[in-house]
Amino acid sequence: NDVILRVRDLRVSFSTYAGRVEAVRGVSFDLRRGETLAIVGESGSGKSVTAKSLMRLLPEANSTIEGGEALFDGKDLLKLPERQMRGIRGRRISMIFQDPMTSLNPTMKVGRQIAESLKRHLGLSGRAARERAVELLRMVGIPRPEARVDQYPHQFSGGMRQRVVIAIALACDPDVLIADEPTTALDVTIQAQILQLLRDLQERRGLSVILITHDLGVVAEVSHRVAVMYAGKVVETGTVHEIFRDPKHPYTWGLLTSVPLPTLDRSRELVPISGSPPNLLHPPQGCPFTARCPHAMKICAMEMPEYTVFSDEHRAACWLHHELAPKVRPPAQVGG
Ligand code: SF4
Ligand code: MG
Repeated sequence: NDVILRVRDLRVSFSTYAGRVEAVRGVSFDLRRGETLAIVGESGSGKSVTAKSLMRLLPEANSTIEGGEALFDGKDLLKLPERQMRGIRGRRISMIFQDPMTSLNPTMKVGRQIAESLKRHLGLSGRAARERAVELLRMVGIPRPEARVDQYPHQFSGGMRQRVVIAIALACDPDVLIADEPTTALDVTIQAQILQLLRDLQERRGLSVILITHDLGVVAEVSHRVAVMYAGKVVETGTVHEIFRDPKHPYTWGLLTSVPLPTLDRSRELVPISGSPPNLLHPPQGCPFTARCPHAMKICAMEMPEYTVFSDEHRAACWLHHELAPKVRPPAQVGG
């Protein structure tokens, strides 16, 4: 079986002063061994909440996993006791975040921070842990790792700090790395270097990666498959090629026409998606994109469309693919 993580019908809600917010509304996807799966969408689409529920890192006070399953190694991550979860988090599945400073302890030398993880999970300590820390810093492309291992986080640049975070995340040789907007806080040239590093590591170590991003440019660079999220749902999935060359969902069309992409014609006109996502305090019963969709029909507001299957990998939830719907072509800037 080449599926390492199978997520089915994940539903997560938050209680707020105003009521219950349905942040994730039935998300399903598979992560295959050795692939990078990108989860793409605007902020608030439920990408990070999805990732955090898999790691069981949601705030206990106000969040609830309402249902679904996340099978990893025969176990449902959503139901594991916290004690067993601790043996998985950071050991079998690691997560990195947008701002490296949130994952680093500013008062501790980076070598010791890596060693802590090695000690906790693998029982390494002393010289072995230090040697492994140096080796990890070298692996993530930090020059002079023998000297850098004894420095503090503030002595590293933003990009180098994210490399340290990646070293810590990979210290115990996990099977899965979840990277939540790992390059968003970095400037463009550094972004490219970190993405290149993630791709190298993924290939060299056969790592399975979930890359969470709002940036389709990032997706094109490093992923194999893409899941597009909108308002707590996955509205389209496909290979990178399918999503970029033959997208089927109007929201995906909107994403593709609203940002500059290295893979598409640079001279094309960019058109932002007007309007804003629905309030998930009162989720729409039909297609969540209805209010912003230039092609919305009467049924769209009334009923959520099923997925139409276009290939082994490619499916989209949109009424336009119903046999009785009018034929609509994607905007000219998309596909080709
Ligand atoms: Fe637009 Fe209707 Fe398709 Fe939703 S289902 S994306 S509103 S056409
Ligand atoms: Mg987020």
